[in-house]
Amino acid sequence: MPKHSPIHLDPRSPLVLDTRELPRRPGALRTVKRVVPAPADLGLELIGVPEGADLDLDLRLESVSEGVLVSGTVSGSVQGECGRCLRAIGDSLTVTVQELYAYENSTTDETTDEDEVGRLQGDLIDLEPALRDAVVLALPTNPLCRDDCPGLCPECGVQWDELPADHSHQQIDPRWASLSQLTRKEE
Ligand SMILES: [Zn+2]
Ligand SMILES: [Zn+2]
Repeated sequence: MPKHSPIHLDPRSPLVLDTRELPRRPGALRTVKRVVPAPADLGLELIGVPEGADLDLDLRLESVSEGVLVSGTVSGSVQGECGRCLRAIGDSLTVTVQELYAYENSTTDETTDEDEVGRLQGDLIDLEPALRDAVVLALPTNPLCRDDCPGLCPECGVQWDELPADHSHQQIDPRWASLSQLTRKEE
């Protein structure tokens, strides 16, 4: 039974880290600083990192006895819309990543599940799942353009900010009510 994910990693893929230059000796370090395009659907329904936008990776790869510890930050811009008034929101985001990737056939590999501890595939690390988790956790599920955004008038759907303070919708205007009675008589 195959223990490892059958997806073969492409070393040229922007979120795949190559550890060939990192000696497999505990304590060995290598830094990865690069700007990569964001993958599709990085975020939540209302807010996320636009596909192809710059993601700034500032990572440290450290050899530990059973694998490689990846830690550092990833930053980028986010775009979305306000959950109350639907106005566009732009912001920036920095997330912290800290994830251990076990060597294939190490004790950790044999004694843990892949969803507990990540795995190296040969010399390669797929950073994308950890990055997705970190980004999703950092984003608000109900993003707002500002904390006290009043949202939309439920009757006409116009932003309260754009409406006069006395804006209201009368349920039934008495003049129209009598007019509709007249029309009914004519029928
Ligand atoms: Zn709003
Ligand atoms: Zn209204």
